[in-house]
Amino acid sequence: MSFLRFYDGAKPGKKGKLTDDKKKEKAKEYESRRVERSFQSKWKNERDWLEYDEETKTMFCTCCRANSQFRSVSVKGNTFVEGSCNFRHSAIVDHEKSTPHEKALRMSKTTPLTPSELKTTEAGNALKMLQAAERNKLCYLFRNVHAIAKNNRPISDYKWLCELDIAKQIEIGSTYINDHAAVNFIHHIAKVELSHTEKQCKAVPFLSFLMDGTTDISGSEQETLYLRYSKTGNVTERFLNTSSPKSTTSADLYDHVIDVLKQTNIDKGNLKLTPALKDKTKFVFLLIFI
Ligand SMILES: [Zn+2]
Repeated sequence: MSFLRFYDGAKPGKKGKLTDDKKKEKAKEYESRRVERSFQSKWKNERDWLEYDEETKTMFCTCCRANSQFRSVSVKGNTFVEGSCNFRHSAIVDHEKSTPHEKALRMSKTTPLTPSELKTTEAGNALKMLQAAERNKLCYLFRNVHAIAKNNRPISDYKWLCELDIAKQIEIGSTYINDHAAVNFIHHIAKVELSHTEKQCKAVPFLSFLMDGTTDISGSEQETLYLRYSKTGNVTERFLNTSSPKSTTSADLYDHVIDVLKQTNIDKGNLKLTPALKDKTKFVFLLIFI
């Protein structure tokens, strides 16, 4: 009895070609039999850098993650920083042999200097000087971008302003001389300013705000909000926000103010609206007491 099977057109020594339908059928069968891959705890043996996150169902490298903040360790394409769901042993081995991982591993093996070492050793002094130099560079760049924002100048001014600094032989490096970095710096300045405003609002017994609008060059209405409060007898006004309301009807302006306040950490729990403010249609004059 023979178990050999033949199909039409079969030639000795040649593999039969599968039709498209057959290929699909085979792929479907493989998928249905395929066991779902998962993280194997034995992979952690002799790999103290490998961790598994039950919540996100991903595995990650503690070394690469910890050192990803330093520009010297590449994050691009390193799935073990964010978390990988490619549960293959070969993926871990590949990561283990990768240059960024080896670098991160070397960096994590170095012990940080103690505060006394930082003060007394040569390495500590060198490190302090390096940090101070980096800080000075960033101070110049932040000053430039702050001047641009404050004087309502276009972001394109940032590059030539920095080039002027270089011509004056001011050490500012070359990494952050681009529009993207300028926008990022402005974003951080605004964040810090807003947190100062929020902090001050917590320390005053009451505050009010001013709002006025105008149309920008594209014809969109822009409302600017300032907070006004008195602390130890000194009246202070601080900028809060500029953005577009849906329209300039009293009801939309009302919603706009509430939306803006919701985006901040100003305590809305103590927000008391005067009877006139509870009626959106009479939203003409505002006073908020905290
Ligand atoms: Zn790694």
